Amino acid sequence: MKIICPEKTCKSPSLIIKDGSFYRRDDSKKIQRYRCKNCGKRFSRATLSDQYRHRRRRDLLMIEHLLCSKTSMRRIAKVLRIDRKTVAKRMEILEKRALRKHQNLMMHLKEKKVIHLQFDDMITHEHTKMKPLSISLAVDKDRRLILGAKVSQIPAFGHLAKKSKKKYGYRQSFLEVGLTQLFESIYEVIDENAIVQSDMHKLYPKYVLKYLPSCDYKRYEGGRSCVAGQGELKKKGFDPLFILNHTCAMLRDSINRLVRKTWCSTKCPQKLQQHLNIFITYYNYRYLQYELNTN
Ligand SMILES: [Zn+2]
Repeated sequence: MKIICPEKTCKSPSLIIKDGSFYRRDDSKKIQRYRCKNCGKRFSRATLSDQYRHRRRRDLLMIEHLLCSKTSMRRIAKVLRIDRKTVAKRMEILEKRALRKHQNLMMHLKEKKVIHLQFDDMITHEHTKMKPLSISLAVDKDRRLILGAKVSQIPAFGHLAKKSKKKYGYRQSFLEVGLTQLFESIYEVIDENAIVQSDMHKLYPKYVLKYLPSCDYKRYEGGRSCVAGQGELKKKGFDPLFILNHTCAMLRDSINRLVRKTWCSTKCPQKLQQHLNIFITYYNYRYLQYELNTN
């Protein structure tokens, strides 16, 4: 961590020297103190941290674990004996950290390119099934890494379409925006001659042609799903999109608001995106234990 003077009026580059330390009881750590030789400001490593003035630093790790282990935000608050609004605030910090780590992963993948890409959309909803959302997901088949996930609003379909329009009015589709964002964020890490696989969705060829023109694009017919796989794993024997569907099933089984037939649901699409961002890093780094240095 680069130490810079927290005083806004202090002209950089300032000379920072060590100036003693103190013991922080909250997480049993020795904290280095510093002094700026330019303005005389004294501060510590804690001043510069994103957890400055937090009272229960140890909870952050636990919140991350629980968020990615099928626990709702309200239940996390109960388990850790904190306020539910604290959980929401901590999610912002966790997301920032997760996005930073994901950025590192993407930088790493620019050298070790993805040779086998699979992508698809999974359906969930905000508040009610009459307000569906779509999560566009891209997965590296060989290493199982999640490359990106984008949430976008879609209109209700099937027998709920008419009912939804009557109750909530016209609902615009932002699926194309979501897909554009997803492909914008991943096309640099995909190898020129990569094999790209997806299902028969009518929007997909347009994006593959635009962002991955030289890739070998293959499309597959979807099959009936089995109950145990959270509606994502297929009943048929061999599934060419197994890694993708398995990742979708992992999402459904790890993120409480994505579980099927449940009380818990997303109230705000931005929070779902935040939750997904935290989970992607958790899954890649902790669950798959992918290491940037050795791989
Ligand atoms: Zn200073």
